[in-house]
Amino acid sequence: MVTPRTILLATSNPHKVREICEVMHDLPVSWKTLADVHRMPEPVEDGKTFESNAAKKALYYAERSGLWTLADDSGLEVDALRGAPGVLSARYAGPEQDSAANNRKLVTALAGVPAERRTARFRCAIAVAAGDRVLAAASGAVEGVIIDDPRGANGFGYDPHFWVPAFGMTTAEMESARKNAISHRGRALQSIRPALEALLRHVD
Ligand code: IMP
Repeated sequence: MVTPRTILLATSNPHKVREICEVMHDLPVSWKTLADVHRMPEPVEDGKTFESNAAKKALYYAERSGLWTLADDSGLEVDALRGAPGVLSARYAGPEQDSAANNRKLVTALAGVPAERRTARFRCAIAVAAGDRVLAAASGAVEGVIIDDPRGANGFGYDPHFWVPAFGMTTAEMESARKNAISHRGRALQSIRPALEALLRHVD
């Protein structure tokens, strides 16, 4: 039997933890979250890209915890808002990271913008670090359209306003298996999986 390696998930967002564990459930990994390790101040997420923030978070927690660490940085890019809220998605309406306020600000910012110009995508970057090294990294995206009226009660954040035309529903209306199959995070996780599996095979 393979001894599972402990990997720290560098997020305190329970929705992200659930999505990541669902996609990676069959790997020989014992997952820990930030709730399981001694409290650390949060790193400053001042990178200009999701990729740089994910690497920064993974390194920050790996160095301090001594554990392999998987970090996700993700957000929404809206074309009519020239890519906003982007890397500032969590704090779009302020430092409180209030999803309802973020969604109100998004709908207000798009007032009067016709449906065909409401194109957007969720992006996710994932990095796995050990000590002071990034061992693996990958990204994923899913295309959609921003709608004014929220739909669905699953997911989190901007999900109720993110309509995926190919499925005729928002990501908040999707069962978790479907969201994981098509989402930015699901795709980034599928993409990093082979590298992670190889790393898990080659360490004692
Ligand atoms: P992070 O924790 O700095 O990566 O911020 C991610 C923010 O982007 C979240 O707080 C949400 O507002 C948004 N976001 C990222 N992924 C999703 C998703 O899967 N659904 C809805 N919103 C998301």
